[in-house]
Amino acid sequence: MNTVAPPGRLADRLGRPLRDLRISVTDRCNFRCSYCMPKEVFDRRHAFLAHKDLLSFEEITRLARVLVAQGVRKIRLTGGEPLLRKDLEHLVRMLSELRTPEGQAVDLTLTTNGSVLAKKAQALRDAGLSRIAVSVDAIDDTIFRRMNDVDFPVADVLEGIAAAERAGFAPIKINMVVKRGTNDSQILPMVEHFRGSGAIVRFIEFMDVGTTNGWRMDEVLPSAELISLIHARYPLEALGPTEIGETAQRWRYRDGAGEIGVISSVTQSFCRDCTRLRLSTEGRVFLCLFAHQSHDLRTLLRSGCDDEHIASTVAQIWGQRDDRYSELRGSGAATPDSGVRRIEMHYIGG
Ligand code: SAM
Ligand code: SF4
Ligand code: SF4
Repeated sequence: MNTVAPPGRLADRLGRPLRDLRISVTDRCNFRCSYCMPKEVFDRRHAFLAHKDLLSFEEITRLARVLVAQGVRKIRLTGGEPLLRKDLEHLVRMLSELRTPEGQAVDLTLTTNGSVLAKKAQALRDAGLSRIAVSVDAIDDTIFRRMNDVDFPVADVLEGIAAAERAGFAPIKINMVVKRGTNDSQILPMVEHFRGSGAIVRFIEFMDVGTTNGWRMDEVLPSAELISLIHARYPLEALGPTEIGETAQRWRYRDGAGEIGVISSVTQSFCRDCTRLRLSTEGRVFLCLFAHQSHDLRTLLRSGCDDEHIASTVAQIWGQRDDRYSELRGSGAATPDSGVRRIEMHYIGG
């Protein structure tokens, strides 16, 4: 499927519209997942952003309002760990009040490690959050603690998921990053835990994002292999995408126990339909998860300029976009950034 922008909407150089906005609300996290914020690199000496450097909720909402007028229909809050940002539900409330030119609310979602979700789920729902995704890399407590590398128990995250269900989030998405040799033994236990629960597990290929996670191709478990493994035990059939630009390929259990998804960013790129703009905690926008260049919008936001000026700047930035890193990497072509320091996942939020 090739996404083409409708007339009058922003389109990049490959004809892709701007539809999704991912907002990182903090670069801090209480976990140290080795594939994202390895402990050895993100230790006590690491300098996180100072509060004055973060975009305020008002600045984020203003920018989001401009972008919604330009075609954004889906906003995902992420981080770092977004629930560590103080009073996040206030931002959720502000964003939930935005309306598209057609008068619709945006699809407002959040990705979290679930560590404090039990306390926050109801407030987030009351503030107008539409959907939630919780990262769970193992159901076995020992493996889970090893994955987060701060000895955090899986039971607390499962309690957070239960609280989110009680608050009315459905279906809840569960993200599992699969590293061959580290947590691939957990694929079937995760399937068995969540089958029939209404939650949708999405298995994510370990990505070569950033420069600190020691990525190796032999630690990537291709989604095709993962699907065969699950299919042999619980027969599956493919489902079509629910929306253009969806990152996950969907499968359902033949016995009616629900669905799963795979996000195959390494073995099957989906750049052709990539409609995502990423906003960092300090107000820089990135056109690709693998970008090493960004555009500073915080200075603009704090310069006293009007919304039209911001809108035309964004239109210009999006209009120049030709990023398709995964596609180039997959085809064996040279990627534009070989050897260059790339943005880290905890900073931009996946
Ligand atoms: N802290 C929150 C969480 O873990 O859900 C939100 C931020 S986290 C960066 C967003 C998503 O990116 C998580 O589902 C995480 O598992 C995923 N992620 C981080 N590093 C990754 C990598 N190297 N490859 C694939 N997915 C990754
Ligand atoms: Fe934190 Fe999420 Fe990165 Fe894990 S994946 S270190 S929880 S930001
Ligand atoms: Fe989008 Fe870049 Fe990922 Fe391709 S590699 S899907 S352009 S973020």
